[in-house]
Amino acid sequence: MDAKRDGLVPRSVPAELLRGFLKSQYARDDGAGVLPGFEHIEGPTSPAGAAPTCPKTCKICIQHYRPTDWQQCDWLRYASVWDDDQAVKAILSASEKAKVCFDQVAGVLKRSGNSIARRWKKKSVSARAALLREATLELEDQPRAAQGLIYQPEQEDVATWKRNHESWLLPYLDIDGLSRNPSRLLLLLHYRTHHTLQDWFAHDCLHLKCAFSEGLVMIAYNPHCVVVHENRYGDLREWESVAAHRGDIVGFPRAMATFEAQERLAVVLKTVVDLLHGNEAPLGNDH
Ligand SMILES: [Zn+2]
Ligand SMILES: [Zn+2]
Ligand SMILES: [Zn+2]
Repeated sequence: MDAKRDGLVPRSVPAELLRGFLKSQYARDDGAGVLPGFEHIEGPTSPAGAAPTCPKTCKICIQHYRPTDWQQCDWLRYASVWDDDQAVKAILSASEKAKVCFDQVAGVLKRSGNSIARRWKKKSVSARAALLREATLELEDQPRAAQGLIYQPEQEDVATWKRNHESWLLPYLDIDGLSRNPSRLLLLLHYRTHHTLQDWFAHDCLHLKCAFSEGLVMIAYNPHCVVVHENRYGDLREWESVAAHRGDIVGFPRAMATFEAQERLAVVLKTVVDLLHGNEAPLGNDH
């Protein structure tokens, strides 16, 4: 969805402000120092419905929405505000793209999985790394998760930040690890095609925890929540305390990033499989 990406252009962040902010207490687990409010600071937006009414010390809601005082920092401001129509379309577009890609991957694996696995394993570490680099510009050589917060945002321009957004969506994947241990990709392909997006939601959402609260990914705002389980997966719902705290629904800002991460992963895996499948002589069937 190009319009969506275009809407996600971040503002530049004065280094002073960010440094001051990082020293603040916002990240404390008990929520101390957090001013009231999960709403969007730039005032009422077109979407009807209110942001969570939960106390701002809530350990769950603070992972789904950015409190108002976080948004004082440009880095943590929402990159865009979507009305319900845009929100529904963005979720649908991401989940459908992910599903289509994973279905195609599953189809190829069913027909030629063993041959693909053999080809992948036969390659040298550097050949595997080269294939991964061809498949995706967004993966880092080292896992993002291991880089932690040693990044230096004041040295980062907006273009870099935007590019990094993509790699922070999949912080547990890296070119080095995937190419050194060939089983990692094969296991990823197996588990992602044998289980649904719903099954993986909690995992994928958890991996965005740091990026969400440190402003490493661009986040869109809508006050509602998204259903993250079973057959209503992706439906937009009003925030409601019991369902939100039980994890049946997740605040749109965090949920959307997670859907986007699932879409990214699906595209990356499909591209890798296509390269393995198509770059050499026809594979034929396994059977
Ligand atoms: Zn709450
Ligand atoms: Zn399985
Ligand atoms: Zn993981």
